[in-house]
Amino acid sequence: MAFKFITEAMTARLQDGLYRKREVVEAATGPLIQVGGKHYINFSSNDYLGMRRSSVVMQAWADGLAEFGAGSGASPLVTGYTSAHQALEVYLAERLNRDRVLLFNSGFSANQAICQALFGHSNSKAADTIISDKLMHASFIEGAQGVNATLTRFKHNSISHLKTLLAKANTENTLVATEGVFSMDGDQAPLISIVPLIDNHSAWLMVDDAHGFGTLGKTGLGVVEKLDLSQQQIPILMGTFGKAVGTAGAFIAASEELIEYLINFSRHYIYSTAMPAAQAYATLMSLQAKLADERRQILKTRITLFKELARSAGLTLMPSDTAIQPVLIGEPQKALAASERLKNLGLWVSAIRYPTVPKHTDRLRITISASHDERDIQALVDGLQLCLLG
Ligand SMILES: *Cc1c(COP(=O)(O)O)cnc(C)c1O
Repeated sequence: MAFKFITEAMTARLQDGLYRKREVVEAATGPLIQVGGKHYINFSSNDYLGMRRSSVVMQAWADGLAEFGAGSGASPLVTGYTSAHQALEVYLAERLNRDRVLLFNSGFSANQAICQALFGHSNSKAADTIISDKLMHASFIEGAQGVNATLTRFKHNSISHLKTLLAKANTENTLVATEGVFSMDGDQAPLISIVPLIDNHSAWLMVDDAHGFGTLGKTGLGVVEKLDLSQQQIPILMGTFGKAVGTAGAFIAASEELIEYLINFSRHYIYSTAMPAAQAYATLMSLQAKLADERRQILKTRITLFKELARSAGLTLMPSDTAIQPVLIGEPQKALAASERLKNLGLWVSAIRYPTVPKHTDRLRITISASHDERDIQALVDGLQLCLLG
């Protein structure tokens, strides 16, 4: 039986150059991936420090397995919460200088949980307001659209537009949300200017630091470390482990009261099996690894090298100083074609298209990693020059 809406949606996707399909990665070593029997240098991974395959993290996961077994066996409120989960929470809370930390199975569910907890309860009103940056990640926007609140979005990183929306909001319960490092653009939110605005209006401020956590700050604790922002200034901090940390899962760091509230009322937390304890243990070992400090330094030099080489090759980059270095193409088919040409040169650079990014900003999303060596970066720039300017 065929459903008309499905056929129509899929036909439209195909016609618009927006059809998505997966590629099977057969093997990965260092910066290389194997797809369809061929090898490519991977410039489309969020494993910014190469921790995913580091012996510290893999050994820790194996040790954790031996101690705790494979799955956690239950949700955290039943019997799934172990000393490994607790150790990770306590470590993070201390390092981040927050009251408490709560673990989630993914950043997607953590973002949903925040929206649900603050606006999904019986007292929440349609007049309550969520004000988010226009380029906020889909997992947050989905969550914000699914609750009893009005979602408004300010122009990307625009303080004046945020001010206007805040003045209009004037509700009892307001949440302002932005990202430490924007996932598809690589630029950073002007938090130093945003923080004082929020104080004045007694609203919540939340930062999703999925891409800053592990990469920014002296010891990789992310944007709050880099800018020295306290819990009072950023009452809700979200970070993920699936990117620079090299494992999986996420956390929310907040006040004692808010974390206790989440433990009691967050459906995403209560009704989901806890992450495997071995995963929590491997995550903690990744966060404590000296290796990560060294690799953050290497990452910095690789980013600088990429920007220098790209500039002298005449490529136009976006205003990003982070590991995310997008090259704007503008149309989905063109972005796909550029990605294909790069593949022919052994360079894996995914095309990111609408609706992941706004219309006419389809792009190549390049990610630099500490596992790339200087020749990898040179090969990428040569390839980009050939495919985009040649
Ligand atoms: C990846 C990402 C998420 C989702 O995290 P997962 O752990 O992959 O579910 C949330 N927010 C941002 C900004 C992200 O880049």
